[in-house]
Amino acid sequence: MLHRKHKQTIICMALVLCTLAVSGCDYFFGPAQEESVTEDAVLFSTFVQIQIHEWPQGTDPEKVISEAFTEMESTGSIVSVYDENSDINAVNRAAGESVAVSEETFYLLQKALEIAEMTGGAFDPTIGPVVDLWGFYTGEHRVPADDEIEEALARVDVNRIELDEDARTVRVPGDMRLDVEALAKGFAARAGAEHLVKSGITSALITSGQSSLKAVGDGPEGRAWRVGLLHPRAEQDVYAAVELRDGESLSTSGDYQRYFTEDGKRYAHILDPETGYPPRTMQSITVVTPDTVIADGLSTALFVLKPEEVLNRVEQMPDVSVAMMTAEGRVKYCSQMEGRIELVDD
Ligand code: ADP
Ligand code: MG
Repeated sequence: MLHRKHKQTIICMALVLCTLAVSGCDYFFGPAQEESVTEDAVLFSTFVQIQIHEWPQGTDPEKVISEAFTEMESTGSIVSVYDENSDINAVNRAAGESVAVSEETFYLLQKALEIAEMTGGAFDPTIGPVVDLWGFYTGEHRVPADDEIEEALARVDVNRIELDEDARTVRVPGDMRLDVEALAKGFAARAGAEHLVKSGITSALITSGQSSLKAVGDGPEGRAWRVGLLHPRAEQDVYAAVELRDGESLSTSGDYQRYFTEDGKRYAHILDPETGYPPRTMQSITVVTPDTVIADGLSTALFVLKPEEVLNRVEQMPDVSVAMMTAEGRVKYCSQMEGRIELVDD
């Protein structure tokens, strides 16, 4: 039997909206909830939130959230380039040699190769040298010279990653490095969701970082979650609402959260592995699909491609829905998105 607990909802909702406004997340909006528990945390340098709306009798939702946070922290840290002790940095430090990694890291690298394959190489987990050049790791941004980009691109090639499934080892050539940052938030959300499901939670929403959402069960009163997609050029506004159902994940990538400007030009942190430059065909893209890691990786990869190519590719992916704000500020979405998206009038 399900039991619902009263909480200071109004304060909670106000806090949620305020935090999300600051961090620039896409966010859930729906009927005012009288009965829910929401907790925020900063884990692996990332803003994370879990809201639980329904839980079994005898379960302490706050305890479940705290345990889920622990799972998310260890999962995120183990694969982040920003954590010195991560498996990914261990592989990078030992580039040229085979390195044994955890089961989770190995799984994530397999997923990374799958996403690279799905997107014709628009996703490339060896993009690190180029990310470094633009200063996105350190925050010391600059526009590199053409020959620097050329030199860095020579060290980018997803096909040169060697995964040995039996030994569970990874090897990248000596001059290369791994970066699966584009998957870290989705991967952590997946771990958090697994814990919630294991704990019997039947209605919850996980927000991981500025871009990844994971639904556990349907939303309040058995309805779909409604997620507002932030307008990339008016971040206090949403341009559309998208439905998210039990077990589905949503991820947004765009040019409006991590970027710098020089000479009036915007340079965002997602880079095209072919040119070494930030792509300029979209302002943002949102992907909805069941697999949280695929959602996270696809939104990054598809951001690199032209809107028409995205629509063509996604036609072959029946359980993937996408909506884009093009560079010209036009909204485009695929046929799978029809019926679950509602555009907001200006
Ligand atoms: P966010 O959702 O926080 O905006 P993403 O999930 O889109 O971020 O991932 C962006 C990160 O992925 C970059 O900061 C960089 O480390 C890495 N990255 C950039 N370009 C690519 C690419 N083409 N393929 C794979 N990873 C990339
Ligand atoms: Mg991503």
